[in-house]
Amino acid sequence: MNVLNQSIELPIITQKKVSLAIKREDMIHPFISGNKYRKLKYNLQQAIDSKSRCLLTFGGAFSNHIAATAYAGRENNIKTIGIIRGEELEAKWEQNPTLVFAKAQGMELVFVSREVYKKKHEVAFINQLKAAYKGCYILPEGGANALAIKGCEEILTAADRDFDVICCAVGTGGTIAGIINSAEPQQRVLGFPALKGDFLKEDICKFAQNKNWDLNNQFNFGGYAKVTTELITFINTFKKQTNVQLDPVYTGKMMFGVLDLIRNDYFKPGTKILAIHTGGLQGIEGMNNLLKKKNLPLIHD
Ligand SMILES: *Cc1c(COP(=O)(O)O)cnc(C)c1O
Repeated sequence: MNVLNQSIELPIITQKKVSLAIKREDMIHPFISGNKYRKLKYNLQQAIDSKSRCLLTFGGAFSNHIAATAYAGRENNIKTIGIIRGEELEAKWEQNPTLVFAKAQGMELVFVSREVYKKKHEVAFINQLKAAYKGCYILPEGGANALAIKGCEEILTAADRDFDVICCAVGTGGTIAGIINSAEPQQRVLGFPALKGDFLKEDICKFAQNKNWDLNNQFNFGGYAKVTTELITFINTFKKQTNVQLDPVYTGKMMFGVLDLIRNDYFKPGTKILAIHTGGLQGIEGMNNLLKKKNLPLIHD
């Protein structure tokens, strides 16, 4: 699937003599969008080819991966099971737009405590799930495995060879690993983690074959799914100026970072920057529900 690169024109970009384009992976689909589409593509094929009875995966309450898997399962006639972090949600899943969507697609939601959820990578726990849900294809949290990375290697195409720097948001690191693998040797890949922690580098090294990449930890806004009024205001202003909707968990933080680095002369004049819009727009409604409760400004979508 080929996706449009949209050129972004803002005074600061012209002033600093760089250029910025956004790869609109968010346009792939409203629910299986961006990198979650890329990550599912070969996993879904594998689940179908191996005649799996169902597709089981893991996610938090606002997970883009859960929404995407649920939708893709329905489209491909394969049952889906979501192991959801947080027992307390069982009583109030109807207040959560992502979970309502997933359930409407036919996903079976299994709520587990945070302690149990932490075991999601342990062999013993996976074996327990395999026994309980016989014949299921198990996809790790965030959909990150070798087949997911293979899908993410298709984000960059031959038409992107002229860019000097590729920027993308980082969660588990699967997406950036795919981008690193398909980037040209002269290109640099710059990742913006959406969460705190140093563990990501090792995870990325496991899958990435090249060394032309780096992470910038300055723009995580306090951690995963944490937002500030400054970030929300930025997302709303950016939408007004460019007509591009960003999400508050990943792409908003990345783009805030990219523009901050441009403003502070991080990129040499003449640098051609490509930022990947990895999608995630389905999460805005849920985030707005939280912002409303806290009396904070809302994301205009
Ligand atoms: C999941 C997600 C990411 C992070 O991808 P990883 O492969 O886990 O690093 C980035 N952006 C969006 C919109 C996402 O949904």
